[in-house]
Amino acid sequence: MTTAYITHVDCLRHEMGRGHPESPQRLTSVNEHIRDSGLLEKLISLEAPLASDVQLKRVHRAAYIDLIFANAPDEGYLQLDPDTAMNPHSLAAARRAAGAGILGIDAVTSGRAANAFCAIRPCGHHATQARSMGFCIFNNVAVAAAHALEQDGLERVAIIDFDVHHGNGTEDIFSASEWQDKVLMAGFFQHPFYPYSGNVNPAPNMVNVPLAAGSDGALARQAVEKRWLPALEDFEPQLLLISAGFDAHRDDLLGGLALVEDDYVWITRQLMAIAARFAQGQIVSMMEGGYNLSALGRSAVAHVRTLSTH
Ligand SMILES: [Zn+2]
Repeated sequence: MTTAYITHVDCLRHEMGRGHPESPQRLTSVNEHIRDSGLLEKLISLEAPLASDVQLKRVHRAAYIDLIFANAPDEGYLQLDPDTAMNPHSLAAARRAAGAGILGIDAVTSGRAANAFCAIRPCGHHATQARSMGFCIFNNVAVAAAHALEQDGLERVAIIDFDVHHGNGTEDIFSASEWQDKVLMAGFFQHPFYPYSGNVNPAPNMVNVPLAAGSDGALARQAVEKRWLPALEDFEPQLLLISAGFDAHRDDLLGGLALVEDDYVWITRQLMAIAARFAQGQIVSMMEGGYNLSALGRSAVAHVRTLSTH
């Protein structure tokens, strides 16, 4: 059984203006690093489908989805928030980014793949029920979790977020009472730092571990061992989803944490052990941030290589 590598060329066509750090070159770097690593022959390459209106509205307000679909520009840019914009390709890219997770879940639950990595952009974990922010349009990992719960009938899905920024959008969606028994979200992130949330848990299904600027992999591993793993063992997830941001890397100047590739390998192995114990090994990992092109590519290779070694 192999690891699925899910992406789409539409995700390279979304761009938000010159000099924007969330650039198409990020995904190009990941694709090139994966290709140059020799991993591709071990992976099943799949094209991300477009997430449907119904799939998106499981976690987003209908009015928000209708607004994005109706206002997607035919030319130029539509500014959604100070950091987030749409060009004429962004709606397709955002629908592919959300659709990738759905295909990943279908691939692992059908037994076609052991686990999956979605090489996608725009990222998703800052998008709330009703608004885009922080480079995110649709909350990709949330759309995937809702698909697993409402379409596939799973009862417990865990979302792990190791991006340097707190996944406030995912938290906004799944701290609602109707999701609290079905979704466990565990993350670490730099704090205080954008989006300046996560220092208090708004609901019992949130395991937020704020880390001070400068924290390295040893402190991150401690957070995983002391906070994430006990919570995951209690929750017994049937599927693990990962918000895989690589901007906590030491070389990433947008963030101030100091993880290295080996830390991503270690974290991935811990999550694979939980998945093997409770979830038949099922993991769907979805790319979030990461703004140093080389560190992003190297970290994605380390993560995918680990996923493919099972
Ligand atoms: Zn980030």
